[in-house]
Amino acid sequence: MHTASPGYARLLSPLDLGRFEVRNRIVMGSMHVGLEDSPADAEKLAAYLAERARGGAGLIVTGGYSPNRTGRLTPRGAEADERTMERHRVITREVHEADGRILLQLLHAGRYAFHPLAASAQAGRSPLSPFRARRLTRRGVQRTVEDFASAAARAVEAGYDGVELMGSEGYLLNQFLAPATNRRRDRWGRGAEARRTFPLAVAQAVREAIGPDALLSYRISLLDLVPGGQDWVETMVLARGLVERGVDVLSTGIGWHESRVPTIVTSVPRAAFAPLTERLRMNVDVPVIASNRIHDPAVAEQVLAAGQADLISMARPLLADPHLPRKLTEGRASQVVPCIACNQACLDRVFDGKRASCLMNPRAGRETELVLTPVLQRRQRKVAVVGAGPAGLEAALAAAERGHVVTLFEATDELGGQLRMAARIPGKEDYAQALRSWPTRLAAAGVGIRLGVRPSAQDLLGFHDVVIATGVLPREVDLPGFATTPDGSGPAAAAGGPDVHAAGDRAGADTAPTGPHVITYADLLEGRAEPGERVAIIGAGGIGVDVAQYLSAPQPSPTLDAQAWKRHWGVADPADHRGGILPRLSAPCPRPGSGSGSDGAVPQPDQPALDVPADGRRARVVHLLQRKDTKIGAGLGRTTGWVHRAELRRAGVVQHTGVAYQRIDEQGLHVRVGDQEQLIEVDTVVICAGQVSERSLADELLQARSGRSPRVHVVGGADVAAELDAERAIRQAVETVAGI
Ligand code: NAP
Ligand code: SF4
Repeated sequence: MHTASPGYARLLSPLDLGRFEVRNRIVMGSMHVGLEDSPADAEKLAAYLAERARGGAGLIVTGGYSPNRTGRLTPRGAEADERTMERHRVITREVHEADGRILLQLLHAGRYAFHPLAASAQAGRSPLSPFRARRLTRRGVQRTVEDFASAAARAVEAGYDGVELMGSEGYLLNQFLAPATNRRRDRWGRGAEARRTFPLAVAQAVREAIGPDALLSYRISLLDLVPGGQDWVETMVLARGLVERGVDVLSTGIGWHESRVPTIVTSVPRAAFAPLTERLRMNVDVPVIASNRIHDPAVAEQVLAAGQADLISMARPLLADPHLPRKLTEGRASQVVPCIACNQACLDRVFDGKRASCLMNPRAGRETELVLTPVLQRRQRKVAVVGAGPAGLEAALAAAERGHVVTLFEATDELGGQLRMAARIPGKEDYAQALRSWPTRLAAAGVGIRLGVRPSAQDLLGFHDVVIATGVLPREVDLPGFATTPDGSGPAAAAGGPDVHAAGDRAGADTAPTGPHVITYADLLEGRAEPGERVAIIGAGGIGVDVAQYLSAPQPSPTLDAQAWKRHWGVADPADHRGGILPRLSAPCPRPGSGSGSDGAVPQPDQPALDVPADGRRARVVHLLQRKDTKIGAGLGRTTGWVHRAELRRAGVVQHTGVAYQRIDEQGLHVRVGDQEQLIEVDTVVICAGQVSERSLADELLQARSGRSPRVHVVGGADVAAELDAERAIRQAVETVAGI
């Protein structure tokens, strides 16, 4: 029998929310997954939400549904209209059958709407939409209040336990509150009190519409993080007004979508904004929900223990592991599948108009489609998985979960593959959580682990199935002056090439030739080679950008210190600075080199003062190069790429695009840009030129096929190295194993 871990006593304790009790303090916060938009997806959405209810979430909030057509996020976006609300009964029934409680979120996009009907407090265009919003007339505002009320009534009629009003993240209710987006001169906008009239009227009308038994939650923006946002006094007056009008719970939101400060990416410190939630909690007498980067149950418990909140919103963590609450209850916290806040398969997908899933859990959002059916004992197969990077690890887990007998082989003595290197990048420290979770999850699933073993084809003949997840090798670069070693493990001086050292050869630098030290990103990140003071990075894909950050980021990483991180991004106390951001501290940093132009429509951070090393050391000079003449980092994630690009600019990384590599000699790296030859004087060159598949074992097995050969499945980077990422690798691995 399982017992709840005493470490999570607060998180797992029930709470009376006034209208009903929730079984624990874990709220699955609202997150649009792309199944909300079409009524035809109602069954899939029901399966996705019911899985989280079965997993034990105390309260679930759906993705946002507009109260009317004007407020839809996209032309065909989700709306709580009369025609489609009937389809929600399957959702509410399935969640209730799993003892869950569920609210429908009402979200009016206002000027964030991506269609020509967009309307807001005032006319204008947001940085996020090409469509100019029209100004709502006075009658239009009143009608919108009524639309919220009717939609809320329909939600309760369809079986929801209540509704949540989306009043943060810069959507319509928030737009009415901020002086920057509401300069109306009528009763809906002249001064702070008038700006509050619309959200308060909506709350009151919705309370009346849903009756006394339904819960009303309001997502309140504690920190707008935009110029001309609200100040703290205004926010507190709003909070008390909402409670007076019947709001039962205040869920906290941080940062408008157009904000130039990151609020949810992995480089944001854990629970960075919980102190503000605590200040709200001291000012109201309803439960408050903390959110933003509280992805680890231990952090959630600490926030509750410190009295900073009554409940914790965990949206992405429940995407990664729908059974997180149940695992805590059963004393299996170490088996929780962690969310690493990468956004790769969830928010980046949603912003691309695709269905969300999870890098760590490809079944998320596909519960009815990607099913890991248990196998009967007589159909059990002996499965070997070769390679313990993310693809191999998740293949082994999925195969064992289905009931197969699984052995996982790994040539090195550590699990994690390329993710081990990613965890060393400043700002990606939380990737290590995935590394820590795999050993316990593998042990619980009964997977046999053989570390330090590189099996031959002969060794694998006794298995029914072999999953090849041997990953990738750094791509060799053919450039006069050096060549990488054939096994990709590190570069070596090319025959006749001058002045180039092999990785790890730096000790003899005084007597050895004086040209740049050429190393791969793996040499650098695995500690086999030390970088010099002047570094050129060849290749500016995801890994090149990561390496540039590794070489140039402030030390210690601001991600590990919330106060330092706030200074780094110019986050201020909203009691001192409207919107919670510091005025621009300095002129934009100089951007030497080519290709460092404006980032277009994607929000960019203000440029606070450059972080200068405290000891006055000369900062390392880092050059980042690519052959393409597109913007550096253009291929990075929609929700994360701008943060990386901002960090590079801030650190003064010299960006070169449209280069043709010429040679490396004792002077440095020679490149051509257009007609001009340039010398980049460096003492280290790091090769980040992508990868090639490591499939020697796969080829050996496939060539040696005979009657007793196992079935061979090649997944992840070993299958296709181009544009490899962990999300694709894991998804392919789990899909493959689902069919074994
Ligand atoms: P990548 O994204 O394919 O980038 C490799 C870069 O090397 C290319 O941009 C290419 O740019 C350059 N290159 C390719 N062949 C070359 C050659 N022969 N000589 C010189 N340059 C060459 O690969 P990666 O950086 O290794 O990343 C692997 C995967 O992990 C990618 O899918 C990436 O998105 C993902 N990842 C993402 C992140 C993130 O989102 N932050 C971080 C790490 C990794 P040019 O041809 O223009 O020079
Ligand atoms: Fe978390 Fe990344 Fe999964 Fe999104 S894709 S839920 S951020 S692990």
